Amino acid sequence: MPDDADLSDERIALDVRMGLAAAAAALAAGPRPRGACLWCGARLALPQRWCDAECRDEWQRDRQRSQPSEPTHGAAHAGAHRR
Ligand SMILES: [Zn+2]
Repeated sequence: MPDDADLSDERIALDVRMGLAAAAAALAAGPRPRGACLWCGARLALPQRWCDAECRDEWQRDRQRSQPSEPTHGAAHAGAHRR
């Protein structure tokens, strides 16, 4: 059924867009670089805040866990899948 496929594609695209927007907002609102990885504390060149994407993801996950945001569809969905 092409209509259903189109709908779910649209839905996924929207979820991705919302996720990206949330990530961008988190980065924009995030702390300034301070010469060390914000997650593991390794020394870094100044513009960097994390040594790699893994540290950044862990840091973001921890941050989201410690300050529960309003329950959005995307967040609830991702949480259910992660279990
Ligand atoms: Zn690190």
